[in-house]
Amino acid sequence: MFTWSSLSAKIAQRVSLWSNDAFFALGWRQMRSVLSGPGQRILVYHGLDQRGETALNGRFLSAARFEEQVRFLSENAQIVALSDYFSGNFDQNQFAVAITFDDGHRNNRQYAVPILDKYAAPATFFLTSAAGRGAEWLWMDFLDVATRLAPATIEIGGRQFTKKTWRHTQYFADGNGRKLVDWARYSPWSFVQAMETALLDAGAWSGAEHWATYWQLLAPAEIREMAANPRVTIGAHGHTHQDLAYLSPEAAGLELQHCKDFLEKTTGQPVSALAYPFGTYTRQLVETAAQMGFSQQLALDFLFPEDHTDHRLRERMCMNPFISDGNQWLAVKKGQY
Ligand SMILES: [Zn+2]
Repeated sequence: MFTWSSLSAKIAQRVSLWSNDAFFALGWRQMRSVLSGPGQRILVYHGLDQRGETALNGRFLSAARFEEQVRFLSENAQIVALSDYFSGNFDQNQFAVAITFDDGHRNNRQYAVPILDKYAAPATFFLTSAAGRGAEWLWMDFLDVATRLAPATIEIGGRQFTKKTWRHTQYFADGNGRKLVDWARYSPWSFVQAMETALLDAGAWSGAEHWATYWQLLAPAEIREMAANPRVTIGAHGHTHQDLAYLSPEAAGLELQHCKDFLEKTTGQPVSALAYPFGTYTRQLVETAAQMGFSQQLALDFLFPEDHTDHRLRERMCMNPFISDGNQWLAVKKGQY
């Protein structure tokens, strides 16, 4: 809900971000000392591309900017493997980061892996089992790209949705204004399928090849090749990328099991790391996942008081393509934007 106090808080935040940039530019603040001293953070990336496209969804960063960030981290912090992060197997006097990628885009192999190799930096890639169910895309990526290419209004399940632009172009439900992406996230899978069918029927996928970077997923042979790289760890991210907290416990458990089975069969390696899609879970699901062998489970922000003392669970922070690197490192140090 829009309120004046949240607006003024946002403006105050913007002013502090600008002043940080000014301090860096003037040399009053040294970027390389921002992460000095102890601390630790798990960073979340999604896709990398050539130009840092932010108009689709804000989940992409240019490969050049990612390289600059990895270079900075390798010089001013320690980049550690996720398993070492969990066990505390690193220099406690120096800031430690673990790099993670979500969603399993093909661009991860094209752009991220060579950069990680160049800087000898480990990373964990959280993949779904989309390929295991014959899917070519994840539904959120499909929606982002199809929205770009689809007509101004679309009918799904007897309801009309209209495109509007506020930072990104998105569909909103006529009448109540709810975003289509939220509608899909909190509806049964049948709605997601109806949404995809409606957009395909409207011709919204005919130009999608041009946007392949933003939806194409790693093929099984590519997953196997990445897993053979000693710097790469493969982790699980669900079967269909549904919000697991909104599924029945049985359905949510199956999402994890299908994904684990597919990734273990594909890589020939045990998969013990899990990043919850959308960062949502239940306490029951944490137990279920632990029984399946997921000893490293990743939230975004913790959702329950017990999470803070649960050794199987850690928080992560999404990297933000809309701010400067200086502000990004200040946020990483602080643990919030
Ligand atoms: Zn995801």
